[in-house]
Amino acid sequence: MSLAEASEWTLQAKCRDMADSLFPEGKDQKRARSVCMGCPVRSECLAEALDNHIEWGVWGGMTERERRALLRSRPDIESWHDVLLNYLDDPAATITVLPPRRKD
Ligand code: SF4
Repeated sequence: MSLAEASEWTLQAKCRDMADSLFPEGKDQKRARSVCMGCPVRSECLAEALDNHIEWGVWGGMTERERRALLRSRPDIESWHDVLLNYLDDPAATITVLPPRRKD
C-alpha cells in the first residue's frame, strides 16, 4: 500500500472533524467507539491500527484493550489489511478473526 493510499481513507472518516473524541482513556473508550458504527472506512481504520500496533484510542470501532486481545489471539496474521479489506470480501471466506465475546 502506498503512502497516498494509506492516508486516502482518512478523508472519508466519520470522525474526521471530531478532534480527540476517539482518544479517551479507559472505559470511556467503549462509549466513544459508537461513533465508528456506520463509518465507511472502518475496516481500513482497524487494519491501520492492528498492522501498526497502535496502542491508544479507538480505531475501527475497537478499544485499545479489544485490539490487544485480538492481536494476541491471532499472532499468525501478518497483514490485517489483507484480511480485513481483501479476504473478507470473498464470500467463501471462513476465517475467524474476532475473539469470542466476553461476558462482562
Ligand atoms: S472507524 Fe471510527 S475511528 Fe476509524 S475513521 Fe471511522 S469513525 Fe474514525
